[in-house]
Amino acid sequence: MLPRVIKTENDLGSHLFLGSRHLNMRIIIVGGGAAGATAAQFARKQDRDAEIIVFEETPYPEYSRCGLPHALSGEIPSFEDLIEFTPEWFQRNKIDLRLSTRVTEVEVHKHELKAEGKNGTIIEHFDSLIIATGAAPSVPRIEGVLMNERLRDGIFQFRGMDDAKKLKDWCGRGRRKVLVVGAGLVGLEVAEALSKSNHEVIVAEYLESALPLMIDPDMAEPLASAMANAGVKLITSAAVEQIIGAEWIEGARIKRRSDGSTERIDCDTVVLATSQKPSTSLAQRMGCKVGRGGHILVDMRCETNLKGIFAVGDCTEYKDFITGAEMPVGLGTLAVRMGEVAGKNAAGGDSHVPEGFLSARVTRIFGLEIAATGPITSSISNKANMIQTRTKGSTLSPYYPGGKDLLVKLTASADGGQILSCQIVGEKEAGLRIDIVSSFMLGGLTVGDLAKFENAYAPPVSPCVDALTVAAQAILIKLARAKPG
Ligand SMILES: Cc1cc2nc3c(=O)[nH]c(=O)nc-3n(C[C@H](O)[C@H](O)[C@H](O)COP(=O)(O)OP(=O)(O)OC[C@H]3O[C@@H](n4cnc5c(N)ncnc54)[C@H](O)[C@@H]3O)c2cc1C
Repeated sequence: MLPRVIKTENDLGSHLFLGSRHLNMRIIIVGGGAAGATAAQFARKQDRDAEIIVFEETPYPEYSRCGLPHALSGEIPSFEDLIEFTPEWFQRNKIDLRLSTRVTEVEVHKHELKAEGKNGTIIEHFDSLIIATGAAPSVPRIEGVLMNERLRDGIFQFRGMDDAKKLKDWCGRGRRKVLVVGAGLVGLEVAEALSKSNHEVIVAEYLESALPLMIDPDMAEPLASAMANAGVKLITSAAVEQIIGAEWIEGARIKRRSDGSTERIDCDTVVLATSQKPSTSLAQRMGCKVGRGGHILVDMRCETNLKGIFAVGDCTEYKDFITGAEMPVGLGTLAVRMGEVAGKNAAGGDSHVPEGFLSARVTRIFGLEIAATGPITSSISNKANMIQTRTKGSTLSPYYPGGKDLLVKLTASADGGQILSCQIVGEKEAGLRIDIVSSFMLGGLTVGDLAKFENAYAPPVSPCVDALTVAAQAILIKLARAKPG
């Protein structure tokens, strides 16, 4: 076993050797969510002797936020089933997990931080620091949402374990009429969970279609129909302006953006699922550079502008692989990948995330699997150099029973055939096809390569010519027609 030496301030700053004395590196991680816990895991893999401390302000060890809607609906029996990195895991890996402890200040030059917990104030030194403080839901400006600066009874947000438990408890006390504000991924997953548990659900969305940051409006049409079939009313292009009711919630007033008309909706419960703001006040006080939305800027090593200080997950932004624009990192997949890279680097490694993220995403809601990779069309700036097709394929050959339609929207650049994005909607197998397209995109392959994609075929498993091949061939035809002469 390597000798352990208590550090003094003079020893700080690197993995030091003093004569025969070996000073273990000390890595501190602020935030024990997906990004922070993964960073701890990989820091440990990189350096078996490092001292690793994770500070987490809630009482929960890392759990899957992505699983919360499924615990709300009851598909996952208990919220505690979502815990992925248990306290025992931390113990086994000799990682010091300090729950219910909030890091309040970091003195960068002293390599020292202050945290407040059950046992009062703690001061700790670090050699490298990883900020993994995530994001928090923002409260939209809607009249009547707050009372004494707090959310009124019957109004909920949905990001953490406590939010989900409170909502489940409230909805367990009777059949509710729920208004979900925001038809993004979180809003719709909550809407589905509540409608499955027999509540009456209306979803109001400010933009023109559901999942507006994930798929284009034309690809959201099957989703709108599926929601209607499930008895969930979707109102798009509408702003929720006011929550009505003095003592308890009686309804909400919404304004149609098309003609400015207003309408009253009856509801007794409201779920706010509009947007998330990064939790970066600590990082900003430390001097970390942030983007316009307040997300921390990092390089390919997930290092901030401050040497030895890394940032990962939802508190950061990073380049979009296709557009090159800085985008908030808001996916568990990316949080975990960044955590791996920062964990290794904080422990002396040299690991890199790709030059940009595709933000490949998938969900299964209202009987549909919806998946996308690359930016939505409205985020692609050079639309003049873009060729797009919408084609229909199937999960099986037409003659074989049980095949399900797949609607594929593929976008490529008109000059080189670079694949810019793909969106797929169907009852199943959209996600696995999106992963194939993502691999082509990351590998720099073109739509011509995708058209020659050799898929495995057997009638009960897959079609002879895949829906992706059909989509790519359609693009090639368009490209050929567009060529002069
Ligand atoms: C309902 C829902 C469904 C989702 N579904 C998907 C999905 O299907 N696929 C997908 O890829 N992504 C999904 N996501 C997104 C994914 O969950 C997040 O991207 C991921 O959890 C981000 O991890 P993180 O560690 O960066 O942040 P967080 O999970 O927010 O963790 C940050 C942690 O830091 C702690 N913290 C903050 N400040 C301090 C401080 N000063 N001191 C100590 N601790 C602090 C917080 O308490 C928090 O636990 C979903 C999110 C939600 C809410």
